[in-house]
This record gives sequence, C-alpha cells and structure tokens, in this order.
Amino acid sequence: MLTTRRIANQIGPLLAALIFVAIGVGVLQGTDRFATDARWVSHTNEVIARIEEIEARLRDAESAQRGYLLTGQVDYLASYQAGKTQLPELFAELDNLVRDNPGQKQRIVQLRTLIDHRLRQADNTLRIYDAQGLAAAQAAIGDDARITSDAIRRQAGLMGDTERTLLVQRAASSDRSANLLKALAVAGIPFGIAVIAMVYVLMLREIRGRSAAERQTLAANARLQASVAELEHTGADLRELSHFASMLQSCVQAEEALALTTQLMQRLLPGTGGSVYRIRASNDYTEAMAHWGVPPVRSAQLLPPDQCWALRRGKPQLVHGPGEAVRCRHLESGSGATACIPLSAQGHQLGFLYVSAADDGFLARVQLIETAAEQLAMALSNLQLQERLRIQSIREPLTGLFNRRYLEESLARELSRCERRGLPLALMMLDLDHFKRFNDTHGHPGGDALLAGLGKLLQGLSRPEDIACRYGGEEFTLILPEATAELALERAEQIRAAVQAMRVQHMGKDLPPVTVSIGVAVAPHDGTDPESLLGHADRALYRAKARGRNRVESGHAVHALPGAQRHGRGADQPG
Ligand code: GH3
Ligand code: MG
Ligand code: MG
Repeated sequence: MLTTRRIANQIGPLLAALIFVAIGVGVLQGTDRFATDARWVSHTNEVIARIEEIEARLRDAESAQRGYLLTGQVDYLASYQAGKTQLPELFAELDNLVRDNPGQKQRIVQLRTLIDHRLRQADNTLRIYDAQGLAAAQAAIGDDARITSDAIRRQAGLMGDTERTLLVQRAASSDRSANLLKALAVAGIPFGIAVIAMVYVLMLREIRGRSAAERQTLAANARLQASVAELEHTGADLRELSHFASMLQSCVQAEEALALTTQLMQRLLPGTGGSVYRIRASNDYTEAMAHWGVPPVRSAQLLPPDQCWALRRGKPQLVHGPGEAVRCRHLESGSGATACIPLSAQGHQLGFLYVSAADDGFLARVQLIETAAEQLAMALSNLQLQERLRIQSIREPLTGLFNRRYLEESLARELSRCERRGLPLALMMLDLDHFKRFNDTHGHPGGDALLAGLGKLLQGLSRPEDIACRYGGEEFTLILPEATAELALERAEQIRAAVQAMRVQHMGKDLPPVTVSIGVAVAPHDGTDPESLLGHADRALYRAKARGRNRVESGHAVHALPGAQRHGRGADQPG
C-alpha cells in the first residue's frame, strides 16, 4: 500500500511534466503554424493587391492616354507617362512576392508581356495622334487594343483567382491552427488546474505528514526527557534509600532508626507530615513514636492496632481525598491525602508509617515509602532481636532476673562509680530456706514456679537503679547502689517479710509459703572490691542460716535489725 503510493507519487509528477511538455510543444507548433498561415494569408492578399494595383495603374495610364487624345492637354500625357513608369516597379515587387510560385511567376511574365504590348499600342496611337491628329489615331486604335485589354484582364483574373484559391487554403490552415491552439488551451487549462490541485494535495499531505512526524518526534522527545528526569529522580531516591539502609545498620537503638526515618521522609517527601507508629510489646496499643512535618490530616497518638486498615490487612492503605469511604479510624480532623504503610518483618507487625499531605501527589511514590518501611521494619526487627539476645545474655530465663555474669560486671562497675562519688553500696545475698525439702515435696517444677514467683517479687521490690540477680540455684543477690547499711537492712527485712507472705500457684494449687535468709554487706565498710563484698554478704547469710533462718544478718559492722530477729523464724520452723 505504501509502496504503491510512493510509486504513484513519483510517476504522477513525471506524467504531469510529460503532458505539460506535450501541450507546450503543441502550443509552440500551433502558434508557429498559425503565424506562418497568417503570413501566407497576408502574402496572398498582398499579391492580389499588387495585381489589382497593376491593373489600376494600367487603367489610369489608358484613361490618361484617352484624355490626352480627346483634349490634347499635356497634363494627361504626363499622367500617362507617370502611370507607365510605375508599372515596372510594381512588377518587380510582384515578381518578388511570387518568387516561390513558378506557376504565378510564369503568369506574371505573360501578364507583363501583355501589358507591355498594350503600352506599345498606346504609345503607337499617341505617336499617330501627334503626327496625324485625332481621327487618324482613333482609326489606328482598332480592335487590337480591346483584344489586348481583354487578354490582360483575363490574365490578371486568372492570377487573382489562383491567389484567392491559395488564400482559401491558407485561411483554412490558419483556422485549423487556431482550433488546435484552442483545443490545447481547453485541454491545458483544466489539466493545469488538476495538476496544481494535485500538487496542492500532495504538498498538504506532505506538510501534514511532516507536522504529524514533528509532533511525534516532539512527544517522543518529551517522553524521553521525562524518563531521563524520572531516572535521575529515581537515582537520587535510590541513593537516599541506600544511604538510609546503611545508616540503619549502624543504629544501636530503635529511637535512632526512627529519627533517621523521619529525616528520610522529610527529604523524600517534602511537603508531607507524618509519624512512625510502633506496636507496644504488650500488643494492645500502637503508639506514634516519631514525627516529621505537619500532617494536614491528623492521626491519633495512641490507637488499638485494629483501628488501622494497613495493620489489619498487612498492606498499604491509601486515601486520595476526603471523598473516600474506607478511612482508618485513627484519622482525625483535616482534609488531604493519607497513606498508612505497615511495618512488618518476618511475618510480624511492628507498626506503621503514617504520611499525609494536602494533595495526593506523594501517593505516586508510595513504592518508595514501602521500600523505606521495609528497611525500617527490618532494622527494628534486628534491633529487637539484638535486644532480646542481649537480655538473654544477661538475664536468666526462669526468674527474669539478671544472671551471675551480669552481677559480677555490674557489681564492679557500680562499686567504682559509688566509690568515685563517695557513696555507699549495699549488697544482699538471699538463699531460700530448706528449698531442697520444698523440691522434694512439690517436685522440681513446683520449685521452679516458686523461683519464678520470687524473681517477680524481687523485681517488684527493686528501685530502678537496683540490680536483682539470680546468683545460682535458689540463691539471689541484690545490688543497691548508694544505699546505706540502714536502708539496706530495712529493704532486706521488707523482702524477707514479703517472701514469707508470698503465695505462688502451681498446677492450679497454692504452694505453701517459703522463707528466705538474707546476708547484707555494705561498701566501703565491708570491702571495696566485689570479692570481699560478696564474701562478707555470704558470711552474713551463713550466719543467718546458722541463727535459725528466715532472718537478715549483716557483715561485721552492721548488726541485724531487731525487727528481723523479732519476725524471723528459726530453721526448725520452716514455712
Ligand atoms: P538451706 O535452708 O540450708 O539453704 O537448705 P536448702 O535445702 O535450701 O539447702 P541448699 O541451699 O543447699 O539447697 C539447694 C537446693 O535448691 C538444691 C536443689 O534441689 C534446689 N535447687 C537449686 N537450683 C534449683 C532450681 O533451679 N530449681 C529447683 N526446683 N530447685 C533448685
Ligand atoms: Mg543454697
Ligand atoms: Mg537454700
């Protein structure tokens, strides 16, 4: 189809040019012929005019001769002579005019012979007139003159007829040439108009084709520029994200990761506001932990997880504008677009990213937010894992208290800290009384339940700065930084009483109450290093056991509180 059109486009102008050349050649030839014919017509007319003029001059000469004969006036004779002298010139002209027509040339010779003869007759008559008078001249004229004149007339008529025949032929040829020109004009004008129209249509098509191609090129250019800009933008975004990812890896606390995230959001999504929400360890609430910008649609600070569709479905929840029906219940006042992007790692929901802006332009980049959310979730999950591992490494699983290694580390640290500041530090060592027997009676799992209960109780009775540890078996220690001996003894007594009052359930049944013996040592009085302090506490504990159990004993410098002795129960009165 395209090739046919291309061939037509090439052949069309060639054909048109050929036709134009043909018309041009036709017009040229026609004009030439017409001009030749016209020349011939005028030539013929001239020949006829010359013949007629020769006849007229002859007639003039004859009438002047006759006038002279009749009147004798010399003027007539002069006119006769003048007419006579004009004739050779006219003959020369006529001879020249018909030089290419041998027939006519022949006839001219004959005509001239006749006219010469006639003039000789006239001259002869004039000579007789001059010599003998009018009567002799009239007698001399006779029939010769008339016969010659008739012959002249016939000859001139013959020549004129010949020329008129030629004239008719030449006029006919001229008409044909004129008709040919007319025909060429009649054919040429519409053809010319058709060619111009065709050229116009072709040009129009060409222009349209070109402008369509130009438009296409412009559109392709615009698309290219847009995709280059998009690529540059995407490249910058990817660099931001990769920097974010590497920074996240260096975070040691969740707060740092959250701060990095709000900074990233501010850079990636300028004009938006939002928060990073985390699900609390208890799983009951989700809380906004970090913020950036001012979100046009406000969101609750604290919400039950089921109020957010993103958390329920584990998929981004986008709201383009106020008209949308499905909105999370945590969205409060304000109008604009919002996005909730879940933070989940290893199948666990950790929270969500909340983003809001006045218009929904940022939703086109939701994939970017999802990627950032994935990276953040991964980092938070890693930090949680690290924290769990750290706790596991320092905590003891049954009681949840710190382990012995941690005790030793922190005792040395806290001792030197208190020493530096000139403050005391108290250490308690606790050991359950007759626990072997308890185990024997209620089984090892029963004993474990009791140990766990004791762990909780110790934690509950500790200040934030205290460090409660399971030293081993059913032995516990409590570091009380900055505590004096009095305070420590008071706290020990409080613990002793609480243990005695403690009720632990196991397998749906209450376990019987237990008692604890406590040894207390205080730095710097009882020692300034962990070993000596632990030794003092251990010895005090031993004394407590020896003195009947369920009581508090202190190092050599501090004496057991009277209350402890008063409330204490001996080894022979187990709980
Ligand atoms: P005393 O009053 O002299 O301390 O008597 P006791 O029976 O408690 O003696 P001792 O402190 O030597 O006994 C330690 C017992 O504690 C031995 C063991 O049965 C028990 N025990 C140690 N660790 C655990 C534990 O992790 N779980 C349980 N259930 N029992 C433990
Ligand atoms: Mg023991
Ligand atoms: Mg014991």
